[in-house]
Parts: sequence; C-alpha cells; structure tokens
Amino acid sequence: MQHTVSKDRYERMRKTGSIHYSMEIKRNLAEMVDKFPDNPQGMNYFYDRYEKFLSGDDTSYQGKKVVASMCIHVPLELIYAVGAVPVRICSGAYSMDQIGTEFLPAKTCPMVKSTLGAIYLDILPGNIDPVLIVNPATCDQKKKMGEMGDELGKPLYLLEVPPTKDTEEARRYWHRVIKKFVKKLESVTGNKITRRSLKRAIKMVAKAQAEYRRFNQIRKTAPVIYGKDAILVTNAYFFDDIERWTQKLSELNDELEKRIEQKVYVGKAHSPRILLTGSPSIFPNVKLPVLIEELGGVVVYEEFCSTSRMIWDTVAVDEWFLYDMIPAVADRYLKPSTCPNFSPNDDRKRKIAKGIEDFKVDGVIYQTFTGCQLYDMESRTVGNFVESLGVSTLFIESDYNPDDFGQLTTRLEAFLDSLKNKK
Ligand code: SF4
Repeated sequence: MQHTVSKDRYERMRKTGSIHYSMEIKRNLAEMVDKFPDNPQGMNYFYDRYEKFLSGDDTSYQGKKVVASMCIHVPLELIYAVGAVPVRICSGAYSMDQIGTEFLPAKTCPMVKSTLGAIYLDILPGNIDPVLIVNPATCDQKKKMGEMGDELGKPLYLLEVPPTKDTEEARRYWHRVIKKFVKKLESVTGNKITRRSLKRAIKMVAKAQAEYRRFNQIRKTAPVIYGKDAILVTNAYFFDDIERWTQKLSELNDELEKRIEQKVYVGKAHSPRILLTGSPSIFPNVKLPVLIEELGGVVVYEEFCSTSRMIWDTVAVDEWFLYDMIPAVADRYLKPSTCPNFSPNDDRKRKIAKGIEDFKVDGVIYQTFTGCQLYDMESRTVGNFVESLGVSTLFIESDYNPDDFGQLTTRLEAFLDSLKNKK
C-alpha cells in the first residue's frame, strides 16, 4: 500500500484515529439516546447496531464479498444479485474529517474529507475489506476524490453519472454505464448476475422500501418518533443486513402504530414540524436534528440523500428478463434522484413541496456544508420557492466540527420561536 506519510506515522494516525472515532460514536449516540425520554423500544436494536457496527465490534460481513458505495446512485439490486453485500461508507465522523484535512484542502466538503480519511486509514464500518469501492461522479469534489484515492493507494471505481437526467441521451449513456458496472461487479466477485438472482434482489429491496413507506405514513400523523431517530433508522440502511433491517423496521412500525392509538407523542402539541433538506445528515454528524429537537421542534421529514432520497423509489419492471430488469434498475437510480448534481433539478422543488404538504410542515431548515457548492447554489432557488408556498425557511451553513453549537442554538431557537408564534 502506498502512503503519503511514513509507515510509523500512518500507524500512529490509524491508532489515534480509531480511538477518536470510537469515542465520537459513543458520545454522539449517548447524546441522542439519553437526553430524550420515551425513545421507542424498537429503537434499541438500531442504537445497538451503530455501537457495534461502527465501532468494528461486528463480524457479520467477515468472509463476505462487500462492495462499498458512496452515494445513492449505486444500484444495490445489482450488488445483491452478484452475490455481494453493499455497504455505504459515506462518513459523518468529525474524527475522520480531521484525517482528510491532512491531504485535502481545508475548505473541502466535510463528507468528502471524512469519507476519504476513513478509506485512507481503513477505518470502515464493520471492519469491512471491500472488493470494490464505487464512487459515483456526482459533484466535482467526489470526482477529484477518486483521483486522490488513487494517489493514496486506494483506487476507487468511478461510476459516471451524467450531469442531467431529463434527456434521452443521458438515459442511454447511463444505461451503458450500468452495463459496464455489471461487468465490473461480475469480474471482481467472480459471479454472474442471473435472471433469478436479480429478480430476487429487486423483490428483497422492494420489501424494505414498502416498510420504509409505512414508516413515512406513520410520520405524517402527530409525531410518535423524533427525526433524530428516523435519521438513524435510514442511515442504518447503509450497512445493515437488509432483511434484518426490514424486519426490525416492521417491529418499530408496529410499536409506532400502537403509540398513535394510545396518543403517546414526542414533543409538545405546539412543536413546530420541520422539514430538513440540503447536505446530508449522516451519523455521527446529527447535531442539527438533535439540536432542533432539544429546542422543541420535531423533524418530520428529511429530503436528504442519506434518508428518503435513498430508499423511497422502487424499480418498475415490465418483464422479468435480464434485458428488461437491468435497464429498469438503471432508470430507478437516475430518474427519481433529486441530487443537485443534475441540471435542471426541478424535481427537488416538487419533492419538497409534496413533503411540506404531506407531512404538514411548519418550517424548512436548509443545511449546507461549508465547501459544498452544489447545495449552497441551490439554496437560494429552493429557499425562494419554499417561501413562495408561505413556509418559512432557515438557511444553516455548518460542518462536522461540534464547536458551532452555541451559534446554531441561537439561530435555531429564534426560528423555532417564530414558528411557534405562528401556530
Ligand atoms: S455534500 Fe455537496 S460537496 Fe459533499 S459530496 Fe454531497 S454534493 Fe458533493
């Protein structure tokens, strides 16, 4: 392996990086669990999975072929169909962001720094040793991240996402990219995708999606679960065994439906209902939803690539033949995406408007990571659009550093108070 630093220094960085990462997970998890009374029982499974899996105390993927992914444009069904397991490694850890700062410009997006830092130090969830790391070419920073990976001796496979999704040319181009990806998957795993394996994979993912839709249906009512927990549930989809995740979400949904019957709510009757959007919240960087809810708001919906955008849409198959299923899978990972990488991106505004209506949202909070130009540039159009619907918006620029708590608290408090006064 190639290193930018001496072997000794690398080993020291790895050791201290691991300790800091572990402490960060424990601290942030405790923050989310202990400060909130009445967390649903069904959340215990998810809290436990984070503690074990992210700290590396989980061996479920040992001996399995793991394909690591870094964004929602990587078709999970194809990975399952080739007999491998997908694990999304986008990192929300400040400790890993600091590692990334060693070799990336300080103003780089924290998710890019943190993810590349974790790849460099091999501090990946569940101690996985992926046969392939797939890096979709969405924003410029992700593209350049691939080159940095090569320099660090960690080659990343570039999935060539087109810059638009609305033209027939882009669609055809994407179909070719996906066919090439299928060949790559087959060569790294030594397995072939068959009609049967792909059909099974599509159905398995669709079952998880159906449970997730039920979860969202529940969140449209008076709040019975906090958004900080909903984000944990959806983030766990990054790495959990999909069938177990579906089962545990189903148990949680049963419990939440009982809470609705028994009128066991989180927050207060007048708690403002918040929609979160922008640069994605990924555990352990969940300071924004946690702060909002500590200050009396309830996050009822997230339009993030780490949550709803990742799971909601299903594959629409006409005929169960490979020649039909593979393009259907490709379409599912292009057309419904509202990633700001695409131009135009009007679908994002439509989705936010629908979220506001369906989830009875009082206010929208738009998060942009310092260094993320795409979400930053879209914030004005999205903000104006949301205001035109008569809904107030708060724009927050932040990063993974926990030091801006004080400043965030002041701004969030004022925003939530203004929403409470309107109710
Ligand atoms: S948050 Fe922004 S800069 Fe970071 S990976 Fe996503 S789109 Fe790129």
